[in-house]
Amino acid sequence: MNIGIDIGGSHIALGLINEENKIILKKEHNWEKEEKNDFLNSIVKYCINAIKEIKNENKNITIQKIGIGYPSANILNGVIYINGMEFNLAERISNEFNIPVYLKNDVKCSGLCEKRIGNLKDYDNCFFIAFGTGVGGAYFYKNQLVKPNKYQGFEIGHMVIEVDGKQCNCGRKGCYEQYASMKAFRSKIEELLGIEKLTSDKMFEIIESKEKQDEVNKIIDEYTNYVSIGICNIIRLFEPDSICMGGSFTYYAPIFMEKIKENIKHTFEGRTIPDILVAKYENDAGIIGASMLESN
Ligand SMILES: [Zn+2]
Repeated sequence: MNIGIDIGGSHIALGLINEENKIILKKEHNWEKEEKNDFLNSIVKYCINAIKEIKNENKNITIQKIGIGYPSANILNGVIYINGMEFNLAERISNEFNIPVYLKNDVKCSGLCEKRIGNLKDYDNCFFIAFGTGVGGAYFYKNQLVKPNKYQGFEIGHMVIEVDGKQCNCGRKGCYEQYASMKAFRSKIEELLGIEKLTSDKMFEIIESKEKQDEVNKIIDEYTNYVSIGICNIIRLFEPDSICMGGSFTYYAPIFMEKIKENIKHTFEGRTIPDILVAKYENDAGIIGASMLESN
């Protein structure tokens, strides 16, 4: 058995995964405000306690390894580089349990799950894109996850698509994720309706109810146009056989997919375009993919 951990800015999920890549049990936790203030140490504390609990509750199992997906691309050999500091997350956890701990960017983990057992299984050259709070990517060439020279790479969320556009937290302006993340879409809908912190269910309800239909449709059109621009860039750069879209986007895929496919077809008129797919494992891709890690 392996442990897979998916760390997010507001939530952490930790799963015990068997040899068939099935989730045997899952623990989830929403970060408290105080925990966020000391985020990396809170992660260590939560993971150690949760794994100890799992071991105590399941005395007959052996845990072979632990894999962690973390939402940053500045990760190298199990170490997170943040604000000029280094935090050795993998070592902090492996010291406690004496088994291998691997750490990768969260989107690479989800992509790995889709590539091994999900909708990218049958494609040798393919791209996984997660649209959530930000936008991230994972590229597979000849069936292998492509690793850049040093860090995690394929940060497509930070390719600039608008000169002097919206300020991004990476320091540049006009980054793709400022327009194509689910967060960007949600904030447009919130702005239109004058609602703060719209839940996913409520957002779906509003779209389905056709309230302010024209304005909502305009936002959907704008959003899908931006999403399509990034996907077309990736097609031009990598010529993948397929592109699989994951992250919280998967829940809204029925609303967006047709428009996105149309835009892409239109851009590549007369050319064969890659298969455009939606992730199979949705939210569980992160923990399952993390449990599959075999190196940093
Ligand atoms: Zn950026």
